[in-house]
Amino acid sequence: MTKQYGKFGGMYIPEILIAPIEELSQKWKSLKSDEDFLLQLHQELESYAGRPTPLTEVPSFAKYIGGPRVFLKREDLLHTGAHKINNAIGQCLSGKALGKTRIIAETGAGQHGVATATACARLGLQCVVYMGAKDIERQAPNVTKMRLLGAEVIAVNQGRKTLKEAVNEALRDWSSSYEDTHYCLGSALGPYPYPDIVATLQSVIGKEARQQVLHVTGQLPTHVIACVGGGSNAIGIFSGFIDDEAVSLVGVEAGGTGKNLGENASRFATGSPGVLHGCYTYLLQDSCGMIAETHSISAGLDYPAVGPQHAHLYELGRATYSSVDDNQALEAFRILSVEEGIIPALESSHALGYALQQSYAADDTIIINLSGRGDKDLPQLMSEGVIR
Ligand SMILES: *Cc1c(COP(=O)(O)O)cnc(C)c1O
Repeated sequence: MTKQYGKFGGMYIPEILIAPIEELSQKWKSLKSDEDFLLQLHQELESYAGRPTPLTEVPSFAKYIGGPRVFLKREDLLHTGAHKINNAIGQCLSGKALGKTRIIAETGAGQHGVATATACARLGLQCVVYMGAKDIERQAPNVTKMRLLGAEVIAVNQGRKTLKEAVNEALRDWSSSYEDTHYCLGSALGPYPYPDIVATLQSVIGKEARQQVLHVTGQLPTHVIACVGGGSNAIGIFSGFIDDEAVSLVGVEAGGTGKNLGENASRFATGSPGVLHGCYTYLLQDSCGMIAETHSISAGLDYPAVGPQHAHLYELGRATYSSVDDNQALEAFRILSVEEGIIPALESSHALGYALQQSYAADDTIIINLSGRGDKDLPQLMSEGVIR
């Protein structure tokens, strides 16, 4: 089978999904360079989502790590509070270009569901979101938002009732609905062409960050750091620097509560290659290939597979991957809030937490992708008694 990212990627799909995946592949090839489509996308991102996002220097935070120049790419300032809206708007516009009137999506914590419901409301598309029943209980505010935005939220009661099962149900829906339905997948994974679609739609982060850092410092950064769930915000910012070999790229996974299988979502440290949801990549699985349980304080990083392009960058050594545990992420969450007046998402706090474990030279320049804001995490942290 053709793999798009070295050994990784592919389209491991049941026969019934070949027709819609082929249709999407063909259309995507032309949309990628279609000037009308790109103009419309640019206009929506600028006038509706809030692009370009600033690059903010954070000198007080930088003091904790030896005083390099540290910049945050402020995806937290986007409409709906994270980078996910870049992908949701792009895919909903693609769905429209394909002539579809209905959008389906999976969601775990609800962030991708909210972004997709938002884009559908804006663009006049019907929206159905599949969500595990356990996640619906845990993430009530996001369920309310999706319904308010006009989306139908369908509870998935299979298996562990979380994200993995929600993806299965979305794929099942799509296999019988693709005539009028586009499946808006939430991260840079799944069967090809999804990893490419999502990475391309998120590449705007890296393009802007590159221009901005050159404008402010006159130089490329020495390090670019991003958290990695499925890998979309990371590949988005990495793509701006991937050809600049001197720029060190660091992906940060969820270290959870420990190093053992089931205690984290560190696919590179704890996992091995296998197939899940249509692609060959690094996974958390047991010795029989059964998908393992995962844990992270941050729901957006809590997924057993990582995007195939990251698996390739890992094997090439072009990017390095590290992990930060729940407590280190929480410490970073507090430090950025107090020192800079920015409450980061728990996901982004992992990227910040990685930087806090390092010591840099004063002439280093570091960009950390602040993938989202922390408001969404406050109810969880309050109910767990972590903050008051
Ligand atoms: C969903 C989410 C992530 C993780 O997803 P990626 O595809 O790895 O980017 C990271 N940060 C925030 C704020 C999120 O909502």
